[in-house]
Amino acid sequence: MFILDNVEKHYGNVSVLKNISCQIPIDGFVVVMGPSGSGKSTLLRLLSFVETPDHGNVRLTLNGQEFESIKPTRPWPRVTCVFQKQFLWPHLTLRENIRLPLHAAGVHELESKLKSVINLFGMSAFVDRFPNEVSGGQAQRAALARALVLDPQLILIDEAHGGLDLEQQKILNDYLIKLRESGVALIIVTHSLEFARRYADRVVIVEDGTVTDVGTRDILERPRSPYLRRAIGLSTPRGQ
Ligand code: ADP
Ligand code: MG
Repeated sequence: MFILDNVEKHYGNVSVLKNISCQIPIDGFVVVMGPSGSGKSTLLRLLSFVETPDHGNVRLTLNGQEFESIKPTRPWPRVTCVFQKQFLWPHLTLRENIRLPLHAAGVHELESKLKSVINLFGMSAFVDRFPNEVSGGQAQRAALARALVLDPQLILIDEAHGGLDLEQQKILNDYLIKLRESGVALIIVTHSLEFARRYADRVVIVEDGTVTDVGTRDILERPRSPYLRRAIGLSTPRGQ
């Protein structure tokens, strides 16, 4: 469970997240939706503790252990994040990119762990290429594999379906489902309404720098959010 108390984030004098207080359960697939520029990526950076709020507190309870943004302890690598720009090292092959966190953590049996994650993601045909020699979908698989290799309990993925064709989206969804089945929780930012409708265990709506709705996927059919109402073809009540 995430508990956000009066969370604010500014860049310069622009207020990007505005006094958010809410609870976000960690339950299977948590799908985050909202218009471009509404603050989803910023929220994800706070939830993964790579940035801290300017005001307020982000609290995470994960399997009985508590983490707070106002305290120094961080939940990594039990919590990992795949950002929109994948941050693969360009001078390293995909295999070397994935090996890096294993090496840094001093993991025993590094090669067998590496092999199993490469198999899981069906990457053996291109894993020895550099990031600029593979497609966006293949690079994204490598970024996911790298996030997964230290067995996190929670993975946050920004714009999971961005830049993927339909077949690559299907492959990604199959992997995500496998991950969920293995007990990993995922917080997924996506514009795919189809994905949210089929798979979301929870839905979080971000609009204009604030969380406007948190609920089960039922909220997609009767949303309060004007953005979602427009997206599913419900007319927004007059005067709004
Ligand atoms: P989303 O992911 O929903 O598209 P973002 O969280 O990326 O939204 O951005 C929300 C707003 O914050 C945008 O107006 C964006 O320009 C601004 N913003 C995000 N990151 C920064 C930054 N590092 N510096 C300045 N402005 C930023
Ligand atoms: Mg974004």
